[in-house]
Amino acid sequence: TSLALPGIRELQPYQAGKPIEEVERELGISNIVKLASNENPLGVSHAVKQALAKKITELARYPDANGFYLKTALAEKFAIETNQITLGNGSNDVLELLARTYVTDQHEVIFSQHAFMVYPLVTKAIGAKPVAVPAKDYGHDLDAMLAAITDKTRMIFVANPNNPTGTFLTTEALQAFIAKVPKNILVVLDEAYYEYVPSDVRAPSFSWISEHSNLIVTRTFSKAYGLAGLRAGFAVSNAKVADLMNRIRQPFNMNELALTAAMAALGDEEFLEHSIQVNAEGMAQVTAFCDARGLSYIPSHGNFITIRFGSEAAAINQKLLQKGVIVRPVAGYELPEHLRVSIGLPEEMDAFYRAYDEIIAEQS
Ligand code: PMP
Repeated sequence: TSLALPGIRELQPYQAGKPIEEVERELGISNIVKLASNENPLGVSHAVKQALAKKITELARYPDANGFYLKTALAEKFAIETNQITLGNGSNDVLELLARTYVTDQHEVIFSQHAFMVYPLVTKAIGAKPVAVPAKDYGHDLDAMLAAITDKTRMIFVANPNNPTGTFLTTEALQAFIAKVPKNILVVLDEAYYEYVPSDVRAPSFSWISEHSNLIVTRTFSKAYGLAGLRAGFAVSNAKVADLMNRIRQPFNMNELALTAAMAALGDEEFLEHSIQVNAEGMAQVTAFCDARGLSYIPSHGNFITIRFGSEAAAINQKLLQKGVIVRPVAGYELPEHLRVSIGLPEEMDAFYRAYDEIIAEQS
């Protein structure tokens, strides 16, 4: 191991949960509720299932290496050019591609404290220096991030909304920030939860790229489109940036089922709107629950909410698990007193509410 880059030796393995079936077996219960990975609780849409069923007989062939149809559909939907798009095996893949395209071990990469952990991961994997800027009210402190720029800075990651805090930056704040970043530093705007943001406050981020050649926006099919298990994400950038990313991208990084499903999902507006609606209702309900119990939480624009349970957070996480409710500890994000709860179906949220109330009743 001493031969590996120091940044790689420092990395902690990604803490993924055990398969639900395994947890059920261990606990001897069969109705586990998983609210831990910000997935779409509605599952896969009917249109996607149909498209996948058709495709299943064609899998002996390699996928379309350039994702022609998906790029064409994305370009049409978002009024961009196909040569601005880079497809990825999930948006994690394009985040890594970006780092590999532009960052070397001589560079620094800026992101916020409590921001998505893939940013330090891809930075350290390259041997570059991660610069985590202290958060403000759990969110990005954009002024402090600007102040952290040095002549070694090559890339800045901004998550909007952020995971795991759900914090949100306004269009004005983002625009002002991007305008102040020198053009030789790339701004990666990660919009994995974009669809959950009310349409009247969403930033018109793709439209900024023509003016800011250093801006790259990433999106995913894992959340509101309901395709986390297939791995489909993309970046939109200046065509020259996309050209470079596509040169180092593995030719078949998005598989044929993911391409097919993403196409179908993109065309299924009804499912998307329903997903957004279910999330909004769940969010209103969970915040009301927290308010009624005197629990504080970080107001969230995503499909999850990060709730403060105080010094008992780890114990409550264990007790929720015993009762068959899996949520996500965020101690690894320097939030040891919080737990992140993904917004599930109403009955799944009820299971969480019931389990929490039982835990509190058992304590007193
Ligand atoms: N960015 C953020 C902020 C996320 O929370 C996630 C998913 N956890 C991703 C990117 C990556 O999602 P995917 O690779 O599934 O597209």
